[in-house]
Amino acid sequence: MRLDEFAIDNCLKCSVCNATCPVYSAHAQYPGPKHLGPELERLRCEGVATDTAWLEYCLGCHRCDLACPYQVGVSEMIGRAKTMHRKPLVRSLRDWWFARPGLLGRLTTILPALSNFVLSMAPARFLMSKLMQIAPQRVFPAYIRPDLRTPTIGAHKKERPRVLFFPGCFIRYNRPELGRKVIDLLDRNGFTTEVAATDCCGVPALANGDRTKARSLAQDNVLTMANQVNAGMRVVTACSSCGYMLKTGFGGLLKDDAGLADVVQRIGSQTFDLAELLMEQSDAGTLNTEFQTANMHLAYHAPCHQKSQGIGRPWFHLLRQIPGVTVDDIDAGCCGMSGTFGFKQEKYEVSMAIGRQLFDRINASQPEMVATECATCQMQIEHGTTYKAIHPAEIMLQAYDRRPV
Ligand code: SF4
Ligand code: SF4
Repeated sequence: MRLDEFAIDNCLKCSVCNATCPVYSAHAQYPGPKHLGPELERLRCEGVATDTAWLEYCLGCHRCDLACPYQVGVSEMIGRAKTMHRKPLVRSLRDWWFARPGLLGRLTTILPALSNFVLSMAPARFLMSKLMQIAPQRVFPAYIRPDLRTPTIGAHKKERPRVLFFPGCFIRYNRPELGRKVIDLLDRNGFTTEVAATDCCGVPALANGDRTKARSLAQDNVLTMANQVNAGMRVVTACSSCGYMLKTGFGGLLKDDAGLADVVQRIGSQTFDLAELLMEQSDAGTLNTEFQTANMHLAYHAPCHQKSQGIGRPWFHLLRQIPGVTVDDIDAGCCGMSGTFGFKQEKYEVSMAIGRQLFDRINASQPEMVATECATCQMQIEHGTTYKAIHPAEIMLQAYDRRPV
């Protein structure tokens, strides 16, 4: 019996997955995970034509998987069906680019000032909306020439535990200074960091239905990290989507590659979210808590891919250790951005409708700023509210020496 057939038979049709799906709540016509997943999977297994554009509306947030009482693997079924979905040519072209943020980053950072100027111009955004169906309301983040490198290691630090930092595309091409802050934070907590020479984690490729690209990225990344991981180094991520992919996604994409099975398993078990690692220090009583008083009220939003890692809310607990900081845990579901989803013209309205509950709760909290570790959640929160949204690592680092965030 095939594993997916067994998973289909596990479905009780209880509809718990529909109840937790952010798209199902926000879009009256979206058929929901129960239908797009196990119901249609039975027909797909029989070779019946079931292709539907609704597959494109799945955010890949994994909320259905977390809610399902019988581990049906709903989002995996939808993700594989998405790979076979036939899109109109314009959307195929746009999604090809959206699946390759690494390539986009390498090209735009050849001449970043020119790229940023063009991408921010109203006529260029109008053209992108007409030719590529990119929502004109959205603004691309600025690109910066990638200069994130392994810091020179002082002789006195050579005996400290070394960790391998997987920066991801956003930190590498848009916010390399955030990467340096992550390294600084790790340094202040006793770790020596090596920056991995890796490519995109593959989440955008999967989200845009390009499983072949996601698989080749997973293979390349696994081979790039193999020596360090086999030597026992832990991998640290500061992006929840990268973290989810390394912990879980590589295993699914590469399950047929017996030659990589051992190192894929090691990456899965040796990958830590930055906050997860710092929380481990906190639990052991070794976290550097030499914080200055900050007197700040924050709202914290946990991204979907952080929740799907099953590690609790480590940033929420870490930020509350800073004297004078109060944190509201804004438990209001998905922000609706989901990486490139919110940039798509035909998805813009539903993206904003999904985020409405989160925007309302943030507004009710009246924070000084919002802390969330996902870059596209930050973009969506700043787009849907008047509040600045930043990575919690920046707030924690600031608290060590009271620098401006
Ligand atoms: S996939 Fe899981 S949550 Fe959804 S209807 Fe089936 S058993 Fe229920
Ligand atoms: S992955 Fe998220 S958006 Fe997709 S069906 Fe499941 S709950 Fe809905």
